[in-house]
Amino acid sequence: MSEHEILIAGAGPTGLTLAGELALAGVDVALVEPRLTMDLPGRRAGGLHARSLELLDQRGIVDRFLAEGQAYPNVGFHIALDIGDFPTRHNYLLALRQERIERLLADWVEELDVPVYRGSEVLDIVQAENGVEVATAQGKTMRAAWLVGCDGGRSRMRKAAGIAFPGWDASTSWLIAEVRMTEQPVLGFRETASGRHAMAMLDDGERVGVVLAGQDPRAIGVPSLDELATALTAAYGTDFGVHAPTVISRFSDAARQAETYRKGRVLLAGDAAHIHSPMGGQGLNLGLQDAVNLGWKLARVAKGISPETLLDSYQAERHPVAARVLRNTIAQGVLRYPGERIAVLGEFVSELLAMSEPCKHFAAMMSGLDIRYGADEGHPLLGRRMPDLDIVVAEGSTRVFTLLHDARPVLLNFGEPLAIDDWADHVKRVDATFEGTCELPVIGAVPAPAAILIRPDGHVAWVGDGGSAGLSAALGAWFD
Ligand SMILES: Cc1cc2nc3c(=O)[nH]c(=O)nc-3n(C[C@H](O)[C@H](O)[C@H](O)COP(=O)(O)OP(=O)(O)OC[C@H]3O[C@@H](n4cnc5c(N)ncnc54)[C@H](O)[C@@H]3O)c2cc1C
Repeated sequence: MSEHEILIAGAGPTGLTLAGELALAGVDVALVEPRLTMDLPGRRAGGLHARSLELLDQRGIVDRFLAEGQAYPNVGFHIALDIGDFPTRHNYLLALRQERIERLLADWVEELDVPVYRGSEVLDIVQAENGVEVATAQGKTMRAAWLVGCDGGRSRMRKAAGIAFPGWDASTSWLIAEVRMTEQPVLGFRETASGRHAMAMLDDGERVGVVLAGQDPRAIGVPSLDELATALTAAYGTDFGVHAPTVISRFSDAARQAETYRKGRVLLAGDAAHIHSPMGGQGLNLGLQDAVNLGWKLARVAKGISPETLLDSYQAERHPVAARVLRNTIAQGVLRYPGERIAVLGEFVSELLAMSEPCKHFAAMMSGLDIRYGADEGHPLLGRRMPDLDIVVAEGSTRVFTLLHDARPVLLNFGEPLAIDDWADHVKRVDATFEGTCELPVIGAVPAPAAILIRPDGHVAWVGDGGSAGLSAALGAWFD
């Protein structure tokens, strides 16, 4: 029987990221994944948003992604919203296919020596007081103190743990395919009574990417070539002699979220915890960000450093973020419904989003840069992402994100050095100087803090104004 401190079911983007975070924290973690290879069936995510890029930058691996992707200065909410003037090093959307993202994450996880049990599918789980026993479809039994279900929207872990998945049923669905055509494709968008369809040439210049709207919301299973040909004919009046598909799949606008992200020793992250339509390209990003929020907390609990109550903050912080994504995808989906009256609503939404403030507000939401955990008062940095300031430390010039590469909490002192004797083993104290302004997206310049306590996920846990009032309480709350 294999035993690990933590088992992760599913080596998709969420599971891989979580495995990396746990390994960095020195936890014995392993991944269980049915896919034998890294090939990804179907067409999935196409990019990384600014906050995800920042998180990868915090771990020192973002350059690998930047080297393979293409940056665009816009995010989408009904229309393209410019994020070129956001105060972040990654003020763009990086177009990069999910398969490449997963391979790069898998390389990182391999460097961190995380075992990946490929060809193993978790079939059932039994929870005991101090752990979880896992049975695989291949007849293997594994045991761990904690199990995290990162096994996608149909999550077996969620069902086995008895976690409800309430939400909205699909109102419509889309077919998505990569195919060859004997006739000339009609490239670009096409509006019909059933919705907005699209065709584009793929990079090889031979295959065509097709998205067909207005399909049956109840349809399930892998679509056939015949179904695709029929849908093409309905939308374009011809099936273009479609043949040789390399991808045919479907997606819908169903939106659901796990009632709780933890039951006993089982936690959920990524699509296992929330599903929604791909509007705005948020699902993979949300999962990656769940993983970075959960990783350091679960590591501390698994190692017995922090109490289990620390995990309550995972639910408290990440559940509302996903709930908002569900709602923004529903809103975007409704704006795409066919019909003249919806089009009129869309005109007004476009007009609103062309204005500077609404544009920034929505762009920050879509790029994940507006997230604030817990506090809605106090210093504007509190609970928000720490900006990647250029600073000078004893060894010379550096960046704040470089201090986070090893995923340890940092107390960054810009003023009088503060003593943290009781926490010195757990928190890195860095004395630094900084010249310039500290700016946040949407909010703008904020008062320069004298000291900042930064969590391993890059969120600010405490801001000092010259003294140490509240520091012990913050250290105790997060790193006791
Ligand atoms: C058409 C389309 C376009 C999209 N575009 C975007 C986009 O542009 N941007 C974006 O951010 N998101 C996008 N998404 C969403 C994105 O693909 C998902 O949100 C993302 O894959 C979720 O990652 P995950 O790791 O949580 O789950 P998954 O990627 O589903 O990974 C789950 C893993 O668990 C494994 N698994 C399943 N069952 C078991 C089991 N019993 N035991 C062990 N392992 C198991 C699976 O093999 C898989 O590897 C898109 C989705 C679709 C369908």
